[in-house]
Amino acid sequence: MSFLASVGFFFFGVSLGTVLPRFPFLLMSRTRGFNTNFPPHPEPVPLSPHLTQRVLHMRMFYWLSFIVVLLPLSLGLASVRWGNAAFGFGLWTSSCWLILNRLQYFVGGMPPPWTTEMAVELQVIADKAELSGGCCNWTSPYWKVTGIYCVNCSARLSPMARPDLGRKRSERRPLGFLRLLLSDGYPIMAANDVDIATEEE
Ligand SMILES: [Zn+2]
Repeated sequence: MSFLASVGFFFFGVSLGTVLPRFPFLLMSRTRGFNTNFPPHPEPVPLSPHLTQRVLHMRMFYWLSFIVVLLPLSLGLASVRWGNAAFGFGLWTSSCWLILNRLQYFVGGMPPPWTTEMAVELQVIADKAELSGGCCNWTSPYWKVTGIYCVNCSARLSPMARPDLGRKRSERRPLGFLRLLLSDGYPIMAANDVDIATEEE
Protein backbone atom coordinates (compact mmCIF):
# COMPACT_ATOMS: atom_id res chain seq x y z
CA MET A 1 0.00 0.00 0.00
CA SER A 2 1.31 3.42 -0.89
CA PHE A 3 2.36 5.90 1.76
CA LEU A 4 -0.31 8.37 0.69
CA ALA A 5 -3.06 5.77 1.05
CA SER A 6 -1.80 4.93 4.54
CA VAL A 7 -1.95 8.59 5.55
CA GLY A 8 -5.46 8.78 4.14
CA PHE A 9 -6.56 5.71 6.08
CA PHE A 10 -4.91 7.05 9.25
CA PHE A 11 -6.85 10.32 9.08
CA PHE A 12 -10.06 8.49 8.24
CA GLY A 13 -9.49 6.45 11.40
CA VAL A 14 -8.81 9.60 13.42
CA SER A 15 -12.02 11.27 12.23
CA LEU A 16 -14.13 8.20 12.86
CA GLY A 17 -12.60 7.79 16.34
CA THR A 18 -13.35 11.45 17.07
CA VAL A 19 -16.97 11.47 15.94
CA LEU A 20 -18.11 8.02 17.07
CA PRO A 21 -17.76 8.40 20.88
CA ARG A 22 -19.41 11.84 20.71
CA PHE A 23 -22.56 10.51 19.02
CA PRO A 24 -24.68 10.59 22.21
CA PHE A 25 -24.00 14.30 22.71
CA LEU A 26 -24.02 15.19 19.00
CA LEU A 27 -27.25 13.45 18.03
CA MET A 28 -29.45 12.57 20.99
CA SER A 29 -31.79 15.37 22.06
CA ARG A 30 -31.21 17.43 18.87
CA THR A 31 -34.64 16.69 17.36
CA ARG A 32 -37.49 19.10 17.80
CA GLY A 33 -39.59 16.76 19.95
CA PHE A 34 -36.90 16.76 22.59
CA ASN A 35 -36.79 20.53 22.86
CA THR A 36 -40.40 21.64 23.16
CA ASN A 37 -39.69 23.02 26.65
CA PHE A 38 -36.93 25.30 25.42
CA PRO A 39 -36.78 28.34 23.13
CA PRO A 40 -34.84 27.67 19.90
CA HIS A 41 -31.05 28.04 19.85
CA PRO A 42 -29.37 30.53 20.42
CA GLU A 43 -32.08 32.32 22.45
CA PRO A 44 -31.68 32.56 26.25
CA VAL A 45 -33.25 29.72 28.21
CA PRO A 46 -35.52 30.39 31.21
CA LEU A 47 -34.48 28.55 34.35
CA SER A 48 -36.81 25.63 35.07
CA PRO A 49 -36.74 22.03 36.25
CA HIS A 50 -36.59 21.10 32.52
CA LEU A 51 -33.34 23.01 32.18
CA THR A 52 -31.83 21.44 35.29
CA GLN A 53 -32.78 18.03 33.97
CA ARG A 54 -31.32 18.84 30.55
CA VAL A 55 -27.97 19.74 32.12
CA LEU A 56 -27.96 16.39 33.91
CA HIS A 57 -28.83 14.59 30.66
CA MET A 58 -26.01 16.32 28.81
CA ARG A 59 -23.68 15.30 31.61
CA MET A 60 -24.81 11.71 31.17
CA PHE A 61 -24.23 11.86 27.37
CA TYR A 62 -20.76 13.25 28.07
CA TRP A 63 -19.75 10.36 30.30
CA LEU A 64 -21.52 7.88 28.03
CA SER A 65 -18.72 8.47 25.52
CA PHE A 66 -16.52 6.38 27.82
CA ILE A 67 -18.65 3.37 26.93
CA VAL A 68 -19.13 4.26 23.26
CA VAL A 69 -15.37 4.74 22.86
CA LEU A 70 -14.95 0.99 23.33
CA LEU A 71 -16.36 0.61 19.81
CA PRO A 72 -13.58 2.49 17.93
CA LEU A 73 -11.04 1.01 20.35
CA SER A 74 -11.97 -2.58 19.55
CA LEU A 75 -12.44 -1.77 15.86
CA GLY A 76 -8.95 -0.24 15.92
CA LEU A 77 -7.50 -3.28 17.63
CA ALA A 78 -9.08 -5.58 15.04
CA SER A 79 -7.82 -3.38 12.21
CA VAL A 80 -4.24 -3.34 13.49
CA ARG A 81 -4.34 -7.08 14.00
CA TRP A 82 -6.11 -8.29 10.86
CA GLY A 83 -6.95 -5.38 8.62
CA ASN A 84 -5.62 -1.97 7.74
CA ALA A 85 -2.99 -1.00 10.34
CA ALA A 86 -2.96 2.71 9.46
CA PHE A 87 -6.73 2.92 9.88
CA GLY A 88 -6.48 1.06 13.20
CA PHE A 89 -3.77 3.39 14.50
CA GLY A 90 -5.90 6.37 13.52
CA LEU A 91 -8.83 5.00 15.51
CA TRP A 92 -6.58 4.31 18.46
CA THR A 93 -4.98 7.75 18.41
CA SER A 94 -8.27 9.64 18.64
CA SER A 95 -9.92 7.19 21.05
CA CYS A 96 -7.00 7.28 23.49
CA TRP A 97 -6.86 11.05 23.16
CA LEU A 98 -10.53 11.27 24.13
CA ILE A 99 -10.01 9.04 27.16
CA LEU A 100 -6.94 10.96 28.35
CA ASN A 101 -8.64 14.26 27.72
CA ARG A 102 -11.63 13.28 29.87
CA LEU A 103 -9.58 11.64 32.59
CA GLN A 104 -7.53 14.79 33.18
CA TYR A 105 -10.55 16.16 35.08
CA PHE A 106 -9.79 13.68 37.88
CA VAL A 107 -6.28 15.04 38.33
CA GLY A 108 -7.41 18.63 38.66
CA GLY A 109 -7.98 19.53 35.00
CA MET A 110 -10.85 21.43 33.45
CA PRO A 111 -14.28 20.14 34.57
CA PRO A 112 -16.70 18.80 31.93
CA PRO A 113 -19.01 21.30 30.21
CA TRP A 114 -21.92 19.95 32.30
CA THR A 115 -21.63 19.07 35.98
CA THR A 116 -23.91 18.24 38.88
CA GLU A 117 -22.75 21.46 40.59
CA MET A 118 -23.99 23.39 37.57
CA ALA A 119 -27.42 21.76 37.82
CA VAL A 120 -27.52 22.53 41.55
CA GLU A 121 -26.59 26.17 41.00
CA LEU A 122 -29.33 26.52 38.36
CA GLN A 123 -31.88 25.06 40.74
CA VAL A 124 -30.75 27.29 43.61
CA ILE A 125 -31.07 30.43 41.47
CA ALA A 126 -34.47 29.28 40.18
CA ASP A 127 -35.70 28.62 43.73
CA LYS A 128 -34.44 31.98 44.92
CA ALA A 129 -36.28 33.69 42.07
CA GLU A 130 -39.46 31.86 43.04
CA LEU A 131 -39.24 33.31 46.56
CA SER A 132 -38.63 36.70 44.90
CA GLY A 133 -36.14 37.86 47.47
CA GLY A 134 -33.60 38.50 44.72
CA CYS A 135 -32.77 41.40 42.46
CA CYS A 136 -36.32 42.74 41.98
CA ASN A 137 -39.96 41.90 42.62
CA TRP A 138 -40.44 39.86 39.46
CA THR A 139 -37.17 38.01 39.16
CA SER A 140 -37.14 35.91 36.02
CA PRO A 141 -33.74 34.36 35.43
CA TYR A 142 -32.65 33.43 31.90
CA TRP A 143 -29.47 31.66 30.90
CA LYS A 144 -27.65 33.67 28.26
CA VAL A 145 -24.35 32.85 26.60
CA THR A 146 -22.34 34.89 29.10
CA GLY A 147 -24.22 34.09 32.31
CA ILE A 148 -27.59 34.06 34.07
CA TYR A 149 -29.50 37.33 33.93
CA CYS A 150 -32.83 38.58 35.20
CA VAL A 151 -34.79 39.70 32.12
CA ASN A 152 -36.90 42.01 34.27
CA CYS A 153 -34.15 44.21 35.72
CA SER A 154 -31.13 42.87 33.77
CA ALA A 155 -29.21 42.07 36.94
CA ARG A 156 -26.53 39.44 36.50
CA LEU A 157 -27.35 36.56 38.84
CA SER A 158 -24.44 34.29 37.92
CA PRO A 159 -21.36 34.57 35.70
CA MET A 160 -21.75 30.91 34.68
CA ALA A 161 -21.35 30.78 30.88
CA ARG A 162 -23.87 28.66 29.01
CA PRO A 163 -22.59 25.43 27.50
CA ASP A 164 -24.32 23.68 24.62
CA LEU A 165 -27.73 22.50 25.82
CA GLY A 166 -28.48 19.88 23.20
CA ARG A 167 -30.85 22.09 21.27
CA LYS A 168 -30.87 21.96 17.49
CA ARG A 169 -28.27 24.56 16.51
CA SER A 170 -29.25 27.61 14.53
CA GLU A 171 -26.35 27.23 12.07
CA ARG A 172 -26.78 25.08 8.99
CA ARG A 173 -26.16 21.42 9.60
CA PRO A 174 -22.50 20.78 8.70
CA LEU A 175 -21.46 24.03 10.36
CA GLY A 176 -23.34 23.43 13.58
CA PHE A 177 -22.04 19.89 13.68
CA LEU A 178 -18.45 21.05 13.19
CA ARG A 179 -18.84 23.73 15.82
CA LEU A 180 -20.13 21.21 18.35
CA LEU A 181 -17.29 18.87 17.51
CA LEU A 182 -14.65 21.59 17.97
CA SER A 183 -16.14 23.07 21.14
CA ASP A 184 -17.03 19.67 22.62
CA GLY A 185 -20.01 21.31 24.32
CA TYR A 186 -18.10 24.03 26.15
CA PRO A 187 -19.48 27.56 25.92
CA ILE A 188 -18.25 29.29 22.79
CA MET A 189 -18.05 33.02 22.78
CA ALA A 190 -17.65 33.56 19.06
CA ALA A 191 -18.14 37.08 17.74
CA ASN A 192 -21.81 36.61 16.83
CA ASP A 193 -22.63 35.00 20.17
CA VAL A 194 -21.23 37.98 22.05
CA ASP A 195 -23.20 40.28 19.75
CA ILE A 196 -26.38 38.42 20.64
CA ALA A 197 -25.49 38.51 24.33
CA THR A 198 -24.81 42.23 24.40
CA GLU A 199 -27.87 43.03 22.30
CA GLU A 200 -30.05 41.35 24.84
CA GLU A 201 -28.53 43.10 27.79
ZN1 LIG B 1 -34.53 41.22 38.57
